[in-house]
Amino acid sequence: MSEFLERRRNLWQKVQPQGVEAFLLVNVEGSDQPNLRYLTGFTGTFGVLILAGGDALFLTDPRYTEQAQAQVDLPVEEVRGRWLPQVVERLRALGAKRVGLGSTRLSLHLFEELRKAGEGLEFVPLGAPVEELRRIKTETEIQKIKEAVELTEAGLHWILPRIRPGMSEREVALELEFWYRKEGADGVAFDLIIAAGPRSSRPHHRAGPEKLQAGDLVLFDVGVRMDGYCADLTRVVALGRPGSKAQETYRLVLEANRAGIAAIRAGVSGKDVDAQARRVIEEAGLGELFGHGLGHGVGLEVHEGPRLSATSEDTLAAGMVVTVEPGVYFPGEFGVRIEDLVVVAADGARVLSAFPKDELLVLSGR
Ligand code: ZN
Ligand code: ZN
Repeated sequence: MSEFLERRRNLWQKVQPQGVEAFLLVNVEGSDQPNLRYLTGFTGTFGVLILAGGDALFLTDPRYTEQAQAQVDLPVEEVRGRWLPQVVERLRALGAKRVGLGSTRLSLHLFEELRKAGEGLEFVPLGAPVEELRRIKTETEIQKIKEAVELTEAGLHWILPRIRPGMSEREVALELEFWYRKEGADGVAFDLIIAAGPRSSRPHHRAGPEKLQAGDLVLFDVGVRMDGYCADLTRVVALGRPGSKAQETYRLVLEANRAGIAAIRAGVSGKDVDAQARRVIEEAGLGELFGHGLGHGVGLEVHEGPRLSATSEDTLAAGMVVTVEPGVYFPGEFGVRIEDLVVVAADGARVLSAFPKDELLVLSGR
């Protein structure tokens, strides 16, 4: 059985008990690309999947017919003209009355259009069934994520000896991104974050025109996408000798990172893992300076379920891949975050990232 067929079967088993005769997934202009890719392997921006028990059908437009025939292990139907009436017609031909939909990616506009075009059909929002399946990765998926992590780390090893005071953050980001693409990445998994000096206190700073200076801490939050799967890794280095406050903060964040990793195993809640890491920072009196959650799932998307945070309602299960990324940010001064990617196992965590972190790496400031 192909991995895609297996995923579609799992999805059908999940949604069918909700009393639907079909499940519809619409990807328009990339609106539901990760879920459609997960279920079919299709990487284009327009495709519609209809599932109805053992029947499944894939529709796309002439831009993608040939690609879909090569990528998708399903009958491919080409849409000419308006796709909505054609989809509704196929649903009716399958005898479907109640049609399930994922609710996370479908716009309200499209939902209304579907209801207008599909008179006599009932469209039933079913939450996030595909995302829920995606949380637990197969060994093949984990291997792809690991490859993405390895290339991400190789890039970091490549760029670090090349950064100098006077280079702009943007220049560093572009050099690194160029290297990643040359070395075989699909692309970057997100806009690479290169944050130097005072800008490192902004957790999601975008690499800008500002220049690196001697004495800066430089935060790299980077990741590539390989065969669809993402990596996400953060390391902080010092450009020249760091002060004692930076050193102490680094050691504290590292301790929190390790506490988070140590707390991970199947059956533990995302809330508890967050609490274990957060406690380390709180006990140092810096809890206020760690404003974001501890981590998130990574897969076809760089941010997906489960969440590791104070408000998370998720429970970890074997095969989930999550980040552990505590941070401490002194506004206007500097920030430190250390982010690793780990696989949840029955008895602990398997750490995928291997980039050294034991101490704050000090580069030449000249
Ligand atoms: Zn990150
Ligand atoms: Zn992250």
